[in-house]
Amino acid sequence: MKDKSLLEAKQILQNAHNILITSHIRPDGDAVGSLLAIGLALLDADKTVQMVLEDGVPKSFRHLRGSDLIKKRPEGEFDAIVVVDCSDLDRTGKVLRKFPTPDISIDHHITNLDFARVNLVDTAAPATAEMLAAYIPAFGLKITRSIAEALLTGLITDTIGFRTTSMRSNALRTAADLMDLGPNLPDLYQKALISRSFEAARYWGAGLNTLEHDNRMVWATLDLEARKSTNYPGSDDADLVNILTTIKNTDIAVIFIEQHKDRVKVSWRARSGFDVSSVAMQFGGGGHKPAAGATIEGNLFDVKADVLKATKKLLNGN
Ligand code: AMP
Ligand code: MN
Ligand code: MN
Repeated sequence: MKDKSLLEAKQILQNAHNILITSHIRPDGDAVGSLLAIGLALLDADKTVQMVLEDGVPKSFRHLRGSDLIKKRPEGEFDAIVVVDCSDLDRTGKVLRKFPTPDISIDHHITNLDFARVNLVDTAAPATAEMLAAYIPAFGLKITRSIAEALLTGLITDTIGFRTTSMRSNALRTAADLMDLGPNLPDLYQKALISRSFEAARYWGAGLNTLEHDNRMVWATLDLEARKSTNYPGSDDADLVNILTTIKNTDIAVIFIEQHKDRVKVSWRARSGFDVSSVAMQFGGGGHKPAAGATIEGNLFDVKADVLKATKKLLNGN
């Protein structure tokens, strides 16, 4: 399928002049990096490009070249629409509401719904950025140093520094080739993954204080009060879930982030052998076998009870 779809995607991009590129809400490093990579490559090829992320660019990725060009809403008409690192149309927020079916989707989520005309989906790729490192040259476009920085950021963040179970040797080969184009890997690594604000560290503390475990499952809760008392400005978990996965003798980690009185964001992380995307799907979310998420309507107490029950079922294999 790949060769035919790749060729179709290449032709769509070659024939288009005015291109819209978008990715998922609450963008992570792979969403921002992949969007910038294909966006900058098309700009360098003299296309008119609009890069749009409904939630804007998180601070930890604003050092990437072109991030200041990313808008929150599309303006005008387009003759090609490209969606990267995004499993379904709902995940783009309202960005594509007024537009026809997207032309191209480039993604690696196992829960991808094949929502575009041409779907380039590789669920074995640890990051969409890894796919784009091969596709950009295949599209006849050039990977410059800035594009290599964006792609490396996608690879570093989705693999949490090349250590998730989704890692494969091609990711390291790709990273090595990208490094050869000039990026400073330790610097990108530090900015995207390591460095955090004082408030985020205190927010972690609030979350860690709530740690609970049952059998081989561990979970933490970040309620509205935790955000308020630590002055943490985001509505995410500040990547605290990655710390939960370091706790010994656990197979699944879950984090609950209260959004408002009746909405909770949930993130799951699992060791290999478990598919948490299946539980996330039950709650209207999605993701990958080892990492999935969902935004669930309901109060914190009820959502926690429902999610823990369903997750326990998965752990017990029924
Ligand atoms: P998170 O828990 O938000 O860090 O997300 C883990 C993985 O699941 C990422 O690949 C996300 O893109 C994906 N994901 C998170 N929330 C959703 C959702 N509501 N629908 C589909 N995929 C999601
Ligand atoms: Mn992503
Ligand atoms: Mn990704």
